[in-house]
Amino acid sequence: MKLLQDKVIKEGIVLGNQVLKVDSFLNHQMDPVLMKEVGAEFARRFADAGVTKVLTIESSGIAPAIMTALELSVPMIFARKHKSLTLKDDIFVEKVYSFTKQETNEITVSKKFLSAEDRVLIVDDFLANGEAAFGLARVAEMAGASVAGIGIVIEKSFQPGARLLAEAGYRVDSLVRIASLDEGKVTFVEQA
Ligand code: 5GP
Repeated sequence: MKLLQDKVIKEGIVLGNQVLKVDSFLNHQMDPVLMKEVGAEFARRFADAGVTKVLTIESSGIAPAIMTALELSVPMIFARKHKSLTLKDDIFVEKVYSFTKQETNEITVSKKFLSAEDRVLIVDDFLANGEAAFGLARVAEMAGASVAGIGIVIEKSFQPGARLLAEAGYRVDSLVRIASLDEGKVTFVEQA
């Protein structure tokens, strides 16, 4: 997605050779016009997938996920990272190791909002090792739902997540794919 690549080049900040900071349009301040385009693009790519729910994880996945859900006219659910006061029996719980925070979070989704009839599109801001996406897929599958696909805004293709998810049989569709963050520079897969 050219618009998104341009934004990454213009505003992305490379930290070390592993992490891209995009807090001017996705991770802190959010660009609603760009998020609308992102939602439209995911909706176009997954138009034939029979999606009934979009599932993400708080907080940075929420903006692209809600825009995608709006375009597909389906509800969006975000997995919570913090426990609410809900009874344990009413929620699906999964452990997810956070790449950026280097800690394990228990993510939860209310059983009210996912069922065996659902086809779930997972949307997230970044894909690194695939922990978040696998955790969300496990939550969908706990409900008996099927995973229609995984839509990623920024895939870091030099990390194993995309390969591992594809090997596990999931359809992964990423709007931009980064081949390397070496020497403080973003190189996209298409350029590499
Ligand atoms: P994974 O679970 O695939 O290892 O990592 C994806 C999750 O970690 C995303 O939900 C995202 O919040 C965070 N993440 C991973 N890599 C980056 C990165 O380079 N930049 C930012 N801002 N977040 C990242």
